[in-house]
Parts: sequence; C-alpha cells; structure tokens
Amino acid sequence: MFESHDRISLQLSKIYYTHPAQRRCLMVDTLSVAARSHRMSLITGRNTKPEISLRRGLHATGLRYRIHVGKLPGKPDIVFGPAKLIVFVNGCFWHGHTCPDGHIPKSNSEFWKEKICKNRIRDARNIRALRQSGWKVVVVWECRLRKNEDVIREVGRVRSRILKRQPERDRA
Ligand SMILES: [Zn+2]
Repeated sequence: MFESHDRISLQLSKIYYTHPAQRRCLMVDTLSVAARSHRMSLITGRNTKPEISLRRGLHATGLRYRIHVGKLPGKPDIVFGPAKLIVFVNGCFWHGHTCPDGHIPKSNSEFWKEKICKNRIRDARNIRALRQSGWKVVVVWECRLRKNEDVIREVGRVRSRILKRQPERDRA
C-alpha cells in the first residue's frame, strides 16, 4: 500500500520538477515515434528540432561534421574537425539565455535558478577547456533557429567562421 503510494508521489514529483513546456509531454501515455523522439530530445537536449534544422542547413551547403562527440568536453553537438570549430546548439531554458524562453518559472524558482546556474557554470568550463585545446566555439541559441530565415542566417554565420579556419586544401 505504502509502496504504491510512494511511487505515485515520486511520479508526481517528477512531473512537478519539470519545466512547464515538458509537463504535458510527460503525462501522455501513448506516444507516436515522432512524439517520443521529441520527448527524448527535451530530456537530453540533443536532436531537438532547432538543432536538426541547423544541421540540415549546414549539410546542404556541403559542410560535413560529426555530431555529439562524447570524447570532447560538453559532448559538442556539431564538430568540424579540420576547421577545429565546434557548435553548441543551446536550449534557451536549460542554458539560461537572456530571452523570454530563458525565463525562470515562478513556481519553484529557487530550484530552477540553482539548476540553471550550475548548467551555465558547466557550459563556461567546457568552452574554456575546448578553447585551451585550440578549438573555436560557436554557440547558437534555439530561439535563433525558429524561422527558416533565422536558420539560413545562423548557417551563414557558422559557415563563415569555418571558411576562415579551414585550411585551403580542405575546402570543397
Ligand atoms: Zn533564447
């Protein structure tokens, strides 16, 4: 009796400690494949829709890269090896962007402040470690990848950074 009760309150607390944007997804029992992968992307912060849009855009311009490279600090989302350039696609809420999406919820705000503060400290540490090893780091915020024209602009920004870095012989 107690056990099942605890389990329910544990599940409720999991829902409670989740950002409002995710709460709806977590309470749905049956999910399509697309919905499930969307839910996973919210949890892991990888393969989100904005991230995939950026990757597609970069790929379409002929650039090639590795994704989610675990051996580098922060497991960077997009890695251009020869150009020694890294792109992080940051979710505005989790990484504390100064935009409306980065707004801390009113309920449980101390919990969220601490969590996001820790994330920001970790991000800064990872970027510092990468720069010390000779990597250039570009951060792209998810709010800057909403519309098609936004994606095109960010693709251009990353591309120009790569062309500056890439040795002549590696260019397409
Ligand atoms: Zn943002």
